[in-house]
Amino acid sequence: MSELAPVNKIIPFSLVDGPGSRTSVFLQGCNIACEYCHNPETQTLCIGCGTCVAGCPAGALALADGRVSWDEGACVGCDECIRVCPHRASPKIRLMSADEVFEQVAGYAPFIRGVTVSGGECMLWPTWLERFLSRCRGAGLGTLIDSNGTVPFWEHPELMEAANGVMLDVKAWDADVAERLTGQGRALTETVHANLAWLARAGKLEEVRVVVVPDGWGDAEETLAGIARTLGGLADDTRLKLIRFRNFGVVGKLAGAPSPTDERMQGLETLACELGFRTIVLT
Ligand code: SF4
Ligand code: SF4
Repeated sequence: MSELAPVNKIIPFSLVDGPGSRTSVFLQGCNIACEYCHNPETQTLCIGCGTCVAGCPAGALALADGRVSWDEGACVGCDECIRVCPHRASPKIRLMSADEVFEQVAGYAPFIRGVTVSGGECMLWPTWLERFLSRCRGAGLGTLIDSNGTVPFWEHPELMEAANGVMLDVKAWDADVAERLTGQGRALTETVHANLAWLARAGKLEEVRVVVVPDGWGDAEETLAGIARTLGGLADDTRLKLIRFRNFGVVGKLAGAPSPTDERMQGLETLACELGFRTIVLT
């Protein structure tokens, strides 16, 4: 039997997860815990504590033998279960094979340019991901991975054959800053920096993403400089997305923190231009 992966949700038509209209698939579970994560319910797998069951107004959840079951047909989508979960998980997860997800996506194929797989961290499921992206490629769909860059891409050559490209998050450049933001320091930054260089050389770097966090938490200037140094002459061909922190959905230490100002974002855009980036998107 082929491997099953925990699927948090499938958005049939998305315009914000890569070029054109795409189907976005979100896998559950992440190996870091960003303080600014706005989808914290995707970070961990449900441990069956049962906290969410009693609060479900639709009776869509049940606990048996230490596992929570979810009745999708009864669910009214209120997300109360996500709000009360103390473990950054969700009971609304479906274990699905890559083939099952592909069959669903195939129904959208006439209306989409491609698929993007995100998370959580989808690179925690490389075998599943390779199968899914290979089937999508076979159907003529574009294939993108949205990743935190903590899993070495070069260790998965067949998967990287199946993927058109990667949208890579660079959380921080300095290991201490990364530790404060994500719970992981040097191990994270070293792998992310190596992935950045490898993806650029392999022609698989679709986009680099930097979340600009509130003052005192990040090192955006150092991160932009580090990315530009690593890319060298490839910077002018690399799409850079500067994402303004917003506190919607955030439950970590940055819950309620203010967004960076327009002046701050424009200052970073100017710096990115000076560092050699030509395609810069501010969101
Ligand atoms: S979103 Fe969660 S709490 Fe709300 S009805 Fe569905 S399962 Fe129940
Ligand atoms: S989703 Fe969260 S609250 Fe509900 S059973 Fe799982 S771990 Fe507990």
